[in-house]
Amino acid sequence: MLVTLASVAPDLDGLGIIPELLTRNSSHPLLWFSLYHHSLHTLTFALVVGAISFLLAMRKWVTGILAPLSFHIHRFEDILGSRGPDGEQWPIPHLKPFSSSLQLTWRGQWALNAWPNVVITVALLLAVFWLARQRGFSPLEFISQKVDQAFVGAPAAPFSQQG
Ligand SMILES: [Zn+2]
Repeated sequence: MLVTLASVAPDLDGLGIIPELLTRNSSHPLLWFSLYHHSLHTLTFALVVGAISFLLAMRKWVTGILAPLSFHIHRFEDILGSRGPDGEQWPIPHLKPFSSSLQLTWRGQWALNAWPNVVITVALLLAVFWLARQRGFSPLEFISQKVDQAFVGAPAAPFSQQG
């Protein structure tokens, strides 16, 4: 669960879209999404997320390594295919807050709603469905065991089945 949460942690900086949308027609709009989106997509925040995951995990070293790895996969995917509708590339400020010298972008970056992202999303959803069926649980177990079991279609595994 910590590794999965670490993979979405960079987008905490995108939550500013809520106050920005709510205040965009006011006399003092809060431009928190425009100003701060991608400000947590940094090496520093990856290390913070890794340290927190290490401290919270039962399997500390495996989680402490996989959590920042999943964080970096998120950043890699953003570089590949998250171009904005207006052509904005959303550079990844790798060394912030210590330096702005390294802004990661890729000239071939495709748009967020481009076909490769649709294909990747469908393929990953199919993988989630297949794994959920094979293993008897899904990521929905983070939310509720009942919802997870309804999704997987398997009865709840009793704790004392041996004997
Ligand atoms: Zn992101």
